[in-house]
Amino acid sequence: MNSLSPARQGAPIFADAAGDIEVSFEFFPPKTDKMDAALWDTVRSLAPLAPRFVSVTYGADGSTRERTHATVTRIARETAMPAAAHLTCVGASKREILDIAESYWTAGIRHIVALRGDPPQAGQRFTPHPDGFANATELTAGLKAVAPFEISVAAYPECHPDSPSIKADLDNLKAKIDAGADRAITQFFFSPETFLRLRDRAAAAGINAEIVPGILPVSNVAQTRKFAAQCGAAIPPWMDRLFEGLDEQPETRQLVAATIAAEMCMRLYDGGVRHFHFYTLNRAALCYSICHMLGKRPAGGADTHPAADARLVAATG
Ligand code: FAD
Repeated sequence: MNSLSPARQGAPIFADAAGDIEVSFEFFPPKTDKMDAALWDTVRSLAPLAPRFVSVTYGADGSTRERTHATVTRIARETAMPAAAHLTCVGASKREILDIAESYWTAGIRHIVALRGDPPQAGQRFTPHPDGFANATELTAGLKAVAPFEISVAAYPECHPDSPSIKADLDNLKAKIDAGADRAITQFFFSPETFLRLRDRAAAAGINAEIVPGILPVSNVAQTRKFAAQCGAAIPPWMDRLFEGLDEQPETRQLVAATIAAEMCMRLYDGGVRHFHFYTLNRAALCYSICHMLGKRPAGGADTHPAADARLVAATG
């Protein structure tokens, strides 16, 4: 007996994707003129998808403070996309962090992604600045006292490595929402069930804020393994198998990456997810193609293509 929905008989899994989704995109602040040009190609390519917001990360040790500020405020000035700034508690006093927040508010930035941050040296334990915020809950409360920011916080489908238990991690998430956060965005993951379990546990714990899956399209497993080791995300064995023998074939890796991530998003869509947050790594093509497969089209119906495709493939090689 065939259990597929009528729309799917003989059709790809994407046949049911109605495009009734919202997307958001994460960028990192560029270090060089070349990276700056690549970021702006990416911003221009993704803007027609009318994301709910785009966000710009903050370097682990606060080193990107000025670059994050410059990138977020330029996006807010030059595009119609709501821009959010990531901010962490690392290496700065409460006063310094709140001054940064005030300068964002003055510049018209209304959304902060509030994070504890990681110690500058990987593998060390996080130690708060003597006059600083101890964690993202304190930071969220501090930001809300400055201005009525929209606040997003982090959530961990596979539990944060510092957390003694899944329950403690969930309690921590609840504390951040209770402190005033509006939504949580998750760390990346590669099994849809992992996310759906977190969503169900959060609902059972009385967390009503939306939890948005963070989607990392993987085209370079070795690089992803490094990120994953730091944040406790598992790389499933099938990921290695799917990229086996493709080290010298960047175009093929891109196609495989888009297929894997789009299928995972479709399974999340089947589970009721309607907002996807993409870790773009400042490249448009992968995220654009995944959004397209989910039925997302440029606002206004224009058929735009990522301008930077050719360069993106070259850059990911
Ligand atoms: P918190 O929520 O404060 O807590 C982290 C862990 O510590 C939790 O497991 C919690 O259980 C434990 N904990 C917190 N408070 C206590 C307490 N009082 N007692 C005991 N345990 C406690 N990092 C950057 O440097 N820059 C970025 O731009 C950035 N962007 C990110 C975006 C997203 C969507 C995500 C998911 C992560 C991002 N990170 C970023 C990484 C993040 O900074 C790290 O994962 C960091 O280790 C934890 O940050 P947090 O805000 O989740 O911390």
